[in-house]
Amino acid sequence: MNERTFETIESRADELAQLTAELIRFPTINPPGEAYTPCAEYIGERLRKRGFGVEFVRGEGTPGDSDRYPRTNVIARFDGRTPGRTVHFNSHIDVVEAGEGWTMDPFGGVIRDGRVYGRGACDMKGGLAASIVAAEAFIDMNPDFSGAIEISGTVDEESGGFGGVAYLAGKGYFSPPRVDHVIIPEPLNKDRICLGHRGVWWAEIETKGQIAHGSMPFLGDSAVRHMGAVLGAFEEELFPALDRKQTRMPVVPDGARRSTMNINSIHGGQTDDYFPGLPSPNVPDSCKIVIDRRFLIEESLEEIKGEVTSILDRLKWERPKFDYRMRDLMIVQPLMTEEDAPVPRAVASGIRRVFGRDPQYVISPGTYDQKHVSRIGKLHDCVAYGPGILDLAHRPDEWVGIADMVESAKVMAHALDILLHGRGED
Ligand SMILES: [Zn+2]
Repeated sequence: MNERTFETIESRADELAQLTAELIRFPTINPPGEAYTPCAEYIGERLRKRGFGVEFVRGEGTPGDSDRYPRTNVIARFDGRTPGRTVHFNSHIDVVEAGEGWTMDPFGGVIRDGRVYGRGACDMKGGLAASIVAAEAFIDMNPDFSGAIEISGTVDEESGGFGGVAYLAGKGYFSPPRVDHVIIPEPLNKDRICLGHRGVWWAEIETKGQIAHGSMPFLGDSAVRHMGAVLGAFEEELFPALDRKQTRMPVVPDGARRSTMNINSIHGGQTDDYFPGLPSPNVPDSCKIVIDRRFLIEESLEEIKGEVTSILDRLKWERPKFDYRMRDLMIVQPLMTEEDAPVPRAVASGIRRVFGRDPQYVISPGTYDQKHVSRIGKLHDCVAYGPGILDLAHRPDEWVGIADMVESAKVMAHALDILLHGRGED
């Protein structure tokens, strides 16, 4: 039975390439959230013709939502002949800006030499198209299947997913009993299964000082010098400690297989915006940094915050008049679906069947919409699996290979067969 589904997918390779090109031609750039509605309608229209029930859900009032830029999501569902489990393929339809350096129209949907080129080709309109063709071929070849298949095209993943998967998860679209298994066709390479991601803690730290005339700094207290002491302590103690924290999470690339922290920004004192003219001489009474700490399944939020506050609290003792404020900006817990959960097992079986080798299990260095499925939807049987080379995402002349899309569509169809029919895995 698989063989016939596989043959059907192969015979639709051109259609799969065309569908990817069509999706690329909607310039769904985020921000601001361009062309979401026509893109969602195009997906909905196609699936409606194939017998799916189609719903459009706008992320009302979420960041960026307006009548000019509505956050339009599409969810399509095909119910099998008898009730059973539901497998959901979720793809984001938004893309990042094209940027410089393209040798072709980034929204032209160029098909050339076995590849489809364009912004979003690999991240992730190719994955969306592969899941559509996989589901359609499966339905055509297995008209009596039990359960249901859902395909969604959601918005704003690139900016946090609040108008997309987070909004829908809050409305029950990513929870049992409606959905049991979720596959997110992000471009993690066709023979890899992404089980989750590291955690994120963004925070703003402010050191306080006292304003005074710059010619008599001894009358004031420099918040910038206090921040210098903070950064010095981070360099000497915190960064080396983070480097030593290795993880059992198989994060790719290797450099991310440990704790990391980026200092996103620093600003102290008066505005930089004095030109034309000259700044006035002041001792800065405030200095702020934003930190981006990526943490591991082995670490707790309390622990990683404690590493920072213990340094800050010690400086309070060491430095006269040192004072600080710390404020959380964003927190995402680390996530790792176990390898033996139903979805990773079904996808692994598909990879073995199509490629004749075991999959590589990976963890993403950054987050993606799986966080909302897990935290808000409370659904933990979810992985990212899709065609496309991760390193090409967000770059000029982004492309996805047609043969790679065909092969990963086969893996997806095989996973459907296992998850819906409960067949043995080979
Ligand atoms: Zn993506």
